[in-house]
Amino acid sequence: MSDPVVIVGASLGGLRTAEALRRSGYAGPVTVFGDEPHAPYNRPPLSKDVLAGGEVTHAAVAFPQRAATADVLWRLGTRIGSADLERRRVRTADGEEVGYRALVVATGLRPKRLFPRTAALAGAFALRTLDDAGELSAALTPGTRVVIAGSGFVGCEVAATARQLGCEVTVVGSSGLPMLGPLGEALAEDLMERHEQRGVSFHMGTHVAEVIGRDLVEGVRLADGSELACQVLVEAIGSVHNTEWLSGNDVDADLGLRTDSAMRVLRVDGSPWPDVFAVGDVARFPNAIYGDTPASIEHWNIPTETAKRAGRVLALQLAGDPGLADAVAERFAPIPSFWSDQYDIRLLAYGLPALADRVELLAGRRGEDCVYGYFVGAELVGVCGIGMRSEVMRHRDEVSRYGQLPIGETD
Ligand SMILES: Cc1cc2nc3c(=O)[nH]c(=O)nc-3n(C[C@H](O)[C@H](O)[C@H](O)COP(=O)(O)OP(=O)(O)OC[C@H]3O[C@@H](n4cnc5c(N)ncnc54)[C@H](O)[C@@H]3O)c2cc1C
Repeated sequence: MSDPVVIVGASLGGLRTAEALRRSGYAGPVTVFGDEPHAPYNRPPLSKDVLAGGEVTHAAVAFPQRAATADVLWRLGTRIGSADLERRRVRTADGEEVGYRALVVATGLRPKRLFPRTAALAGAFALRTLDDAGELSAALTPGTRVVIAGSGFVGCEVAATARQLGCEVTVVGSSGLPMLGPLGEALAEDLMERHEQRGVSFHMGTHVAEVIGRDLVEGVRLADGSELACQVLVEAIGSVHNTEWLSGNDVDADLGLRTDSAMRVLRVDGSPWPDVFAVGDVARFPNAIYGDTPASIEHWNIPTETAKRAGRVLALQLAGDPGLADAVAERFAPIPSFWSDQYDIRLLAYGLPALADRVELLAGRRGEDCVYGYFVGAELVGVCGIGMRSEVMRHRDEVSRYGQLPIGETD
């Protein structure tokens, strides 16, 4: 039997790649390695309803397994420690070598920690996995003082959930406003006010300089000199790409694994490894909407879009299909999209608001349901709303045309 297609990472990107391979006609063996003990599951509820529900179970978040991938071999609880791309082999952390016909990297991200010691400190938590959510959920009891380091998506969502569970919540953020990058000033200010109205405190423009407590979190000292007592510290300060296991190979893994627009992993000289692909949060790829510069986009729809693309190209390649060259050359332009639920606040966005040089209220009112447009010059590069979903979605196509208009022309 021929070597399998090996997928490393048994989450959204890995699962969707296996499905795309089957849908595109590849019927050969597929082996998926995942270091978590769980079959693929959905992460967004981990900071929202699942965390708020008090009981965190795999059943509540598991992705349904489709019949087409029933014969995929899932090697869960098995970490890949290294790879040799020249010899087409991966090696598990236990030293088992597995040959592959093609390799798909779907290893995602892991949370950055504040200090090396906090990973082992009782009362300090990071949130990426189901097991993380189970541990954090048990600690969020009414009256618990919680400090959240980081005011991005995960920090704000955990703040809302912890507050709803009756915790005393303080958010510490290095920017001036929470979620400032993805929302822009007006909406970020509005969001902060809504959190404050529900009892969350903010210390913005500073960061946690020290954690107080030897074996157990007792509080934090901030860079501005103030001290906050707490029993729970949630570290939501960003993420690191899981690419160390590829070190020693000719790849560019700086800020995500660089690929071409067909999701083929690139060598440092820019030429593709024909049989190595990357999908999801770990991939840094060029999106035709935004020009040639590769970027990693860590939103939920991107693992699916990149997996569909990689699975199709790889299936054509494995079949020796003459359509491969055309498929590789096809325009790849997935529209980034994110949502975030905090209390009854439902944020939905398309595009990349962070690129904007100007923000305009398109509909509704600040403090109520509202939609903001994010512009580069006259072109809409992003749209984000609280509520008003149909109004947000109305602008989706326009956002996807960013960069397509000749300079000076608008529609
Ligand atoms: C708490 C939370 C809330 C979120 N909420 C939203 C939201 O509201 N909206 C939104 O758009 N996005 C949200 N996201 C982001 C979204 O979940 C991610 O974009 C998505 O999970 C990425 O999927 P992925 O398959 O690329 O990577 P991941 O889901 O990170 O999966 C990678 C898998 O690979 C495994 N792995 C890593 N290294 C190895 C190795 N060497 N060997 C074997 N296995 C390995 C990891 O353990 C993991 O299981 C949220 C994420 C989190 C954590």
